Amino acid sequence: MQIDDALSLIREIPDYPKPSIRFQDITPLLANAEAFTTITKKFASFAEQGTLVAGIEARGFIFASAVAHELNSGFIPIRKAGKLPHRTISQSYGLEYGDDTLEIHIDAITPGASVLLIDDVIATGGTIGAAIELIQRCGGRVAHVLALLEIDGLSGKQRLLEKFPTVNVTSLVVS
Ligand code: AMP
Repeated sequence: MQIDDALSLIREIPDYPKPSIRFQDITPLLANAEAFTTITKKFASFAEQGTLVAGIEARGFIFASAVAHELNSGFIPIRKAGKLPHRTISQSYGLEYGDDTLEIHIDAITPGASVLLIDDVIATGGTIGAAIELIQRCGGRVAHVLALLEIDGLSGKQRLLEKFPTVNVTSLVVS
């Protein structure tokens, strides 16, 4: 299956979970084995040798763990506040519909490790920005950020590139 055919399975749900939000529902893509494999292999093609794969709760976990498996590398969860059991570091951020806090285990990343960071959607870029800061505060180096989709008109990718000029940011489609 071609990448564009896989991405065409993403379904837009207008006014969910609030009026004016165009929610990007990835479940039809995940339910299609060929599409899920195509996206996993595409994401894995961006990895450097020996990279760790970090995913953002919750939908980022789905792709990040599949990519980690594909690369035979480790998976690092970046979770919402209060979910990780060991000592954490936290980073708060604003998003398209509300505010939130992300956390990572303080010892999740070996200092100097290269990290491939994955989430499903870039809207304002706040979530990925907070995750990059957490990885950097752990001593990791974010080599590449990957998302399936970037919401048009919210300038999320542009904001990330301005704030983190050394980090590569790739989304497979703008919608
Ligand atoms: P942001 O921090 O504004 O870039 O928002 C990105 C995060 O919120 C991602 O983890 C997405 O899962 C979720 N998100 C934000 N907006 C949408 C949307 N329109 N459709 C689906 N997920 C979204």
